[in-house]
Amino acid sequence: MAKRDYYEVLGVERGASAEEIKKAYRRLAKQYHPDFNKDDRDAEKKFKEVNEAYEVLSDPQKREQYDRFGHQAEAAGFGTGGFGGADFNGFGGFESIFENFFGGLGGFGRRRPPGPEQGAHLRYDLEITLEEAFHGGSREIKIPRTELCPDCRGSRARAGSKPETCPTCQGSGQQQFTRNTAFGRFVNVQTCSACGGEGKMIKDPCPACRAQGRVVRERQLEIKIPPGVEHGSRLRVGGEGEAGLRGGPPGDLYVIVGIRPHKLFLREGDDLVIELPLNMVYAALGTEVDVPTLDGTAALRIPEGTQPGTSFRLKGRGMPRLRGAGRGDLRVKLKVIVPKRLSHKQKQLLADFARTCDDGKGFIDRMKDAFGGAK
Ligand SMILES: [Zn+2]
Ligand SMILES: [Zn+2]
Repeated sequence: MAKRDYYEVLGVERGASAEEIKKAYRRLAKQYHPDFNKDDRDAEKKFKEVNEAYEVLSDPQKREQYDRFGHQAEAAGFGTGGFGGADFNGFGGFESIFENFFGGLGGFGRRRPPGPEQGAHLRYDLEITLEEAFHGGSREIKIPRTELCPDCRGSRARAGSKPETCPTCQGSGQQQFTRNTAFGRFVNVQTCSACGGEGKMIKDPCPACRAQGRVVRERQLEIKIPPGVEHGSRLRVGGEGEAGLRGGPPGDLYVIVGIRPHKLFLREGDDLVIELPLNMVYAALGTEVDVPTLDGTAALRIPEGTQPGTSFRLKGRGMPRLRGAGRGDLRVKLKVIVPKRLSHKQKQLLADFARTCDDGKGFIDRMKDAFGGAK
């Protein structure tokens, strides 16, 4: 089942402050609290969801990892050693198990040697222009990453040879020590010191990777950019992260898209906003102008007597919608320009014009009247 985004669950922005998150959580937790929603399965589900989201977003470290990798980070147990490097087996190397007086040793405390582990996820920040976000397309990127050694295919032993079972632990990867104390018998299970818990020994190491099983390579990849991609979008490229360990699958690559600010257009969701300077004369007389868009120009009719700050909307001339069909709008904000430098002739024309619209009194005089004739 697909999981909802935690920010969406709490109804907050991605950049929300800790305080905002707490507030949203309190409100929703109250709303869906089982005490107020008796026998309401949906509310119960929501209550759990809200709590889960808060648990992650209220913890700065978990939140950071979630921001980077989403629910993947969580699946990886919010590894503390960077991403993907988490010790999935939780097998730190030393474990003390109290053997109780009744249970004996049966099955208790036996652990498998470390199994296949997925490779680390990688992040790549890709900066694109608004034009690229508009048209979509593909971009070549180069990433350094670890890959399975082509010589030994990850076995770490020289091609043609094979790792052998560790004679110390017989392949279990563990050694057990029993200790009798006044409180009972303690069984210490420790990682095998001979093989480091692998259960295998390599007699003839692979020279190409120096028995690492992985090598660092710079890879060129083609990243598909969907039209309408948003600033901060996370594109997941499955299996293009670091190579896995012990036959585990590779990690994923996450491309985080950043869109450079544009000198003409401002993006608001799927809409584009542009400021259009227009001489006051044309605002007064009305005109038709060509407005630049991200794909050519669009004709816009400015009606007579248009006021400064008026906005026009050109339907369907904005960004392609990332989800769903069609395009957003282009909003044109009119910036009426008053000419600064006038020729003698122009001044005269404007003065003549002013006389024609004067009702005998100037604007200043009318203002004075309004304030009771005060000088
Ligand atoms: Zn190798
Ligand atoms: Zn061993």
